[in-house]
Amino acid sequence: MSITAIKGFNDILPAESDRWQYIEQTARRVFELNGFSEIRVPIMEKTELFRRSIGDATDIVEKEMYTFTDKGENSVTLRPEGTASVMRAFIEHKLYAQDPVAKLYYLGPMFRYERPQKGRYRQFHQIGAEITGVNAPLADAQVLNMLVQLFREIGLDEPSLQINSLGCPDCRPAYRASLVAFMEERLDRLCEDCRRRFTTNPLRILDCKVPGCIEATVGAPSVLDHLCGDCDDHFAGVKGYLDSTATPYSINHRMVRGLDYYTRTTFELVTGLLGSQSAVAAGGRYDGLISQLGGPAIPGIGFAIGFERVALLLGDKDFSRQPDLFIATMGVGERDFAFRLMHDLLRSGVRVEMEYEGKSLKSQMRRADKLGARYSVVIGENEVASGKAAFKRMKDGEQIEVPLKCEDIKKMME
Ligand code: ATP
Ligand code: MG
Repeated sequence: MSITAIKGFNDILPAESDRWQYIEQTARRVFELNGFSEIRVPIMEKTELFRRSIGDATDIVEKEMYTFTDKGENSVTLRPEGTASVMRAFIEHKLYAQDPVAKLYYLGPMFRYERPQKGRYRQFHQIGAEITGVNAPLADAQVLNMLVQLFREIGLDEPSLQINSLGCPDCRPAYRASLVAFMEERLDRLCEDCRRRFTTNPLRILDCKVPGCIEATVGAPSVLDHLCGDCDDHFAGVKGYLDSTATPYSINHRMVRGLDYYTRTTFELVTGLLGSQSAVAAGGRYDGLISQLGGPAIPGIGFAIGFERVALLLGDKDFSRQPDLFIATMGVGERDFAFRLMHDLLRSGVRVEMEYEGKSLKSQMRRADKLGARYSVVIGENEVASGKAAFKRMKDGEQIEVPLKCEDIKKMME
C-alpha cells in the first residue's frame, strides 16, 4: 500500500502552482508598491501566544489548533494565523523603537483542525499585511484600498468589500449587554455551540453559520448603534476616505470576525461563488493586541487573504509558461551541438527545451507542440556545417533562416 497525504493537507501540483505563483507575484508587487516589507516568522509558536491573542473562547483556540507537547515538555502550536506571530516578532525585536509605523507582509501555511471541504482545509495558506502605529482612519482606508487594488490586479472583480466597526473596550460592554438581553429570549433556538458562546463570547453567535442561529438572530441589536463618540467618528472617517477614492463597499453590522483581538474597523472580501466559504480575505484593526502581548500601546490593522480560495476563483485559467524554442536533432553528433547551444541560450535568458534521448523527429515535433513552444528548429548535419538553420514560428508555420548564434536567435524572436 502506498502512503497518502494527511486528510486536509494538499499537494499543490504544477498547473495549480502556476496560479499560486501568479497570485503571490501580484501580491508582492502591490504590497511593495505600497511600501510594505516582507517579514518571515516561524510556523510554530508557544501555545500561549495564540491563547492570549486570538482568545480562549474562540473556535480557533477552543477546537481548531494543532497543539502538542514537544520532547522538551513545551506546549507548542502550529500557527492558525499570521498576525499574532508578526506582532510577537515586532515586540521581541523592538521594531517599534526604530519606527512605530511598520508596514509588514507575510505569507505561508496556516493550520486549523477544521472539517475539510472545498475552500476549507487543515493546512491552508495566507498572504497578509499589517500596518502598526497609526490610529488615524487613513490607515484603515489605505489597507482597504490596497486589498481592493490587489484583487483588481489579480483580475477578480466579483468579491465585494464589507465593513463594520466592533467598537472599543469603552463601548463594547454596553453592546454586549444589549446583545445578551436579546439572545436570552432566543436561547432555545440556538445551536449547542451558541448556547455555550452565550456565556463565554456572545458576539460570536452572530458569526455562527448554522441556519437556525442565523434565523434566531435576525433583528439583533447592531453594534453600530452602540459605538462611543470616538469610535463613531473613526468609522465615519474610514467610510469618508473610501468614498473619496470611490472604493465600493457595503456595511455589514453582523460581521464580528472569529478572533478576539479586533477593535473598531473589521472587514471581509466576500464572494458568492464558494458557498459558505464566502470570505476570501478578512481583517481588521487590533489596537489592543500589541500591549496585550507585552509590547507598548501601539495600534495596528491588517488582513489575510486565503490563497486556496483566490485560486478557486481563478478557476482553471492557465498561467503556465511556454518555452520560447524547442530544439529537435537528427542524430547523436547534432545532439551535442544542440546541448551547447541550449546552454548558451539559457544563459542569455531564452527559455529552451530539447529532446534528450534520441527519439524520432516526428515524436520530437509532437513534443514541441505539446509544450506549446513559440519556435522550433531542426538541427542536422547541414545545419551544423553551415552554422545556419530555419526556425519555424509555430503559430503560423513561417520559416526564418538565422545563424545558430545566441544573439541572432534572440533578435529573431523579438
Ligand atoms: P471562515 O469564516 O471561512 O471560517 P475565517 O473568518 O475563519 O474564515 P480568517 O481567520 O479571518 O478566516 O482568515 C482569513 C482568510 O483565510 C479567510 O478569509 C479565508 O480566505 C482563509 N481561510 C481561513 N480558514 C481557512 C481554511 N480552513 N482553509 C482555507 N482557507 C481558510
Ligand atoms: Mg474559520
